[in-house]
Amino acid sequence: MSNHAVVTLDFTRPVHAHELRPGDVFAFPDAAHTPLTVVSVKKTVISPELTLLTLALPGHTEPLHLPAGTPVRPLRMVRTVSLACLLCRKPQDVELDLPHDGEPLSLVCGDHIPDMDQTTEGR
Ligand SMILES: [Zn+2]
Repeated sequence: MSNHAVVTLDFTRPVHAHELRPGDVFAFPDAAHTPLTVVSVKKTVISPELTLLTLALPGHTEPLHLPAGTPVRPLRMVRTVSLACLLCRKPQDVELDLPHDGEPLSLVCGDHIPDMDQTTEGR
């Protein structure tokens, strides 16, 4: 883990099923207390308007089929995002769990952070 400071925004935007990747955990809005972990995702384009997703989920013998635009509630979405440092433009890869950490907005790389003990690891 390189030392840098990331400014994030709350992750409040709607998420649709097509954004899910293996390893993500999500719930359907009407079953918010049933977390589902994505094992694999397969996309099938039916028509220009309709893409179907085939999601393999643990504990389910049959894969789940749903339209790509289905709204889901993300519980865990770890993504590696490349951001350029606000001060020197040096690119840095940042790994964030979007629902918990928020969406990355800007970053200041370790070159401008003199003391690592000053970081705010609040959550
Ligand atoms: Zn920098």
